[in-house]
Amino acid sequence: MIRTIGSHVLRTIWIGFTRGLLLGLIGGLLAGGIEALSIIRDAPSARAALNEAALYAIVVNGLACAGITAVIASALAVVLRLMRRQVSARTGDALFVSAAAVTTMFAVGSVWAFRANGADRSAGIPLPQLFLILVISLGFGAVVQWLARGYATALLSSVRRVATLGIVGTIVLGAVFPVQVVLEARESASMRDETVDAMQPADVDALQVDPSVDLTNALAMRFVRRGARPQTEPNVLLITVDALRADHLGFCGNDEMRTPWLDMLASYSVVSCTTYTEQPQTNPALASLMTSTYPAVNGVRRHMVDRLSDSFDTLAKELKRHGFTTAAVLPWTSLEPAFSGFQQGFETYEAFVLNEPEAMKNPATAALAGVYRRVTEQVALGGAVESVLGMRQGTEAEIDGRADLSASATISWLKSHGDEHFFLWVHFFDPHYPWTAPEPWDQLYDGGRDYDGPYDGGMGFVYEMRAGVFNPTPRDVEFLRAMYASEVSYTDHYIGQVLGYMGRQGMLDNTIVVVTADHGESLGERGTSWTDGMYWLHGDDVYTPGIQVPLVIYDPRSTRGHQVLTAPIQHIDIMPTILDLLDLPRPAQAQGRSIVPLMRGAEDGSDRVAITVLGDDSQVAINAADGWKLIVNRETGERELYNIDTDPKEARNLITDAPLMASALERRLDSWAQANHVAVAIRSSDDAGGL
Ligand SMILES: [Zn+2]
Repeated sequence: MIRTIGSHVLRTIWIGFTRGLLLGLIGGLLAGGIEALSIIRDAPSARAALNEAALYAIVVNGLACAGITAVIASALAVVLRLMRRQVSARTGDALFVSAAAVTTMFAVGSVWAFRANGADRSAGIPLPQLFLILVISLGFGAVVQWLARGYATALLSSVRRVATLGIVGTIVLGAVFPVQVVLEARESASMRDETVDAMQPADVDALQVDPSVDLTNALAMRFVRRGARPQTEPNVLLITVDALRADHLGFCGNDEMRTPWLDMLASYSVVSCTTYTEQPQTNPALASLMTSTYPAVNGVRRHMVDRLSDSFDTLAKELKRHGFTTAAVLPWTSLEPAFSGFQQGFETYEAFVLNEPEAMKNPATAALAGVYRRVTEQVALGGAVESVLGMRQGTEAEIDGRADLSASATISWLKSHGDEHFFLWVHFFDPHYPWTAPEPWDQLYDGGRDYDGPYDGGMGFVYEMRAGVFNPTPRDVEFLRAMYASEVSYTDHYIGQVLGYMGRQGMLDNTIVVVTADHGESLGERGTSWTDGMYWLHGDDVYTPGIQVPLVIYDPRSTRGHQVLTAPIQHIDIMPTILDLLDLPRPAQAQGRSIVPLMRGAEDGSDRVAITVLGDDSQVAINAADGWKLIVNRETGERELYNIDTDPKEARNLITDAPLMASALERRLDSWAQANHVAVAIRSSDDAGGL
């Protein structure tokens, strides 16, 4: 008897569960389809990951709704069974369909509202909004209940059919992520097999490199030494420093900063302190640099979400094709293949990161982390889950890139491959927040000493800043700026170690060295908006601190010595320049222009411009000759015109004082936007106020 009742209850739950699964799946697919359409519609311009994001939306919504509705429907089935006398089978079936619709709508509506409110856990969803979503969902459910009376019984009549459809559908949808993880893990695992298994970092400090001897001699004596050895095609060393502003270097005129080794390299090099990033975020900036294409063209617009597609020629691919041994030494998780796609063309591609979780070293879990990040960035439901779990945030607070590790790994690679014809890319991470320079570097600048305020420069302070609770005193600001400066000097020290080692080994006699940064860093310069976090860090505006970067090009064959270029230069000009210096053809995709004609005086650079755009196209800046700069804010329609030669702090908006200059730059920006399919609706002030 009891067994019979037990099996009846189980059967009831099973029927409810499978019905909920199927109906939730259908509802979730519809909700996912709507979100997929909105993702595609809202895309600012070409995006490599667009189809993937749409697929994720469908999968995540489908699975989540199927799961939630299956659980609710199981309970509902038991309740309906208990009320069997009062409710007809037809009404019960219709109730099922309607409950599934209400659940789906309410769940998806809440998640979207949560996301629309900035996915802020403390704010949650305001009650009036939640109430409105509930009322709309119930209203929708009532309509569905009425409609479903006609077909629900037919739809749900066969338990076996409902179960089969629901379970098979869920399995197919659920297989998307594992299949993708396996495919990506296999790809990166096979790549690791081809490359070095272990690139054990040497202890750079134990080498006792002294740049004041090793680097100085190498740079000063390169012609004498070159004569003693056969002339071969030079190697290329590309050093990129994360978040290094041009104005925080000695050679760009900052007398307070201590950057002796970059200054020394610069004094034998062609130098630009007016180079601009295409987009002030790490991966988009580097994708532009490596492919010589604007973000709108290569599709890498969202940091750590969009990966560079295989269809572009990268600097590494080009040089590998021409016989270079290619290697990259990286300090940061964002450059892992799962997040960037930058491994293309590199025979060796290794990250050396402090406190890197074991999971990131394993190709399978690294691929899983990549998929997790893309899902949580791109799909509303995924974002809501991350903001509750905080998994990514927790991991990212622990990881750090450190110049000593990067320099050690670089020297270790040079020890075994330095006699080959090489292209080596080294990325240093330190000036990027969190600004926590190791001892004794944290004491290097006055502002870093004797500070007893609340901010340690760590990630906690960054999160507070993002959340808008950061309200620093002038002393806090002074301290944070000193920490940033310390990180820059710390990086300079280890770049000096790498260059000193190369100098000692004679490698600088035959290596073109290019140094630049991916973007700058805002340090609270435009003070009025500190509390909303707009003018700290990078990626949210196009003012000079965040977008202006240094560029040093050291060519051991050059007889010119030190030379300063003042024309605006873009990241996308760097790849064509390196290929030009090597007499190699540039790929057809390249949108930048070599600066070799500028270096040789064959061009005065007066028609050059540098264009920077935010990832969502909301702001665009054009830097032109003689310090002129126009900013267009697409959301507000506002335009700002500055002359950063005479007004480096961008304090005096000259938009009404110099209308001819403004409209000339606007026309330039307009034709650029059209050519690159960027949605920059540039309205003149007349149009904006006309109606
Ligand atoms: Zn960066």
